[in-house]
Amino acid sequence: MQNSVISRRSALRGLGFLTATGAVASVLAPASASAATELPPSEVAWKDGKYVLPPLPYEYNALEPHIDEATMRLHHDKHHLGYVNGANKALEALAAIADGSGDAALTKNWERELAFQGSGHTLHVLFWNNMAPKAGGEPKGELLEAITRDFGSFENFKRLFSASAGGVEASGWALLGYEPVSGKLQVLQAEKHQNLTVQGFIPLLALDVWEHAYYLKYQNKRADYVTAWWNVVNWDDVAKRYAATQK
Ligand code: MN
Repeated sequence: MQNSVISRRSALRGLGFLTATGAVASVLAPASASAATELPPSEVAWKDGKYVLPPLPYEYNALEPHIDEATMRLHHDKHHLGYVNGANKALEALAAIADGSGDAALTKNWERELAFQGSGHTLHVLFWNNMAPKAGGEPKGELLEAITRDFGSFENFKRLFSASAGGVEASGWALLGYEPVSGKLQVLQAEKHQNLTVQGFIPLLALDVWEHAYYLKYQNKRADYVTAWWNVVNWDDVAKRYAATQK
């Protein structure tokens, strides 16, 4: 099915998992060593048959004062790494069930684990790359046109996205993404990492509102964290991901 291939390729591009040559790098086929090196290091999330933790695209203190160095170190080096390890453990357990050596009664457990840990991994890769020092402001070009078309204005989008982030119950995310059936941008929440999606939705901009993302600096004041986060949004990165969905 050509359409299905196109939308899967677009989805992978949206998360930066396609190589520069357009070869499917990770989820559909094993990445070759040369293909993996064509991605920026901060987007290499799968290598040599395993999920891997990519480095941040900037220094740990680069987003100060909006997001503090201590939070970035813990968040990236401990929390994100935990999702990488958890996703690989789930993959191994499911492979064992597939080859007959594992306990098939635990299939649901490991598939739930893969959904949680794998989504945690991919969203964090997106989140790090969505941010940059001396960023913020407003999008421009085709992305701004699409936001204006689908939300009325950038201010409308920002209002909806902030309300989405503020309203996440317990742990989760606010997401701006492309929904390929309607061809429109939509804002969704993700509870935990994997719940409340529209299947096929391609996240383009992710805001982590788990407490581990802000509690050291902002304590219970999530709204202050969200307000500060707008100052580090890398709109060029979001625009690049949006453009990939339009090819
Ligand atoms: Mn997080």
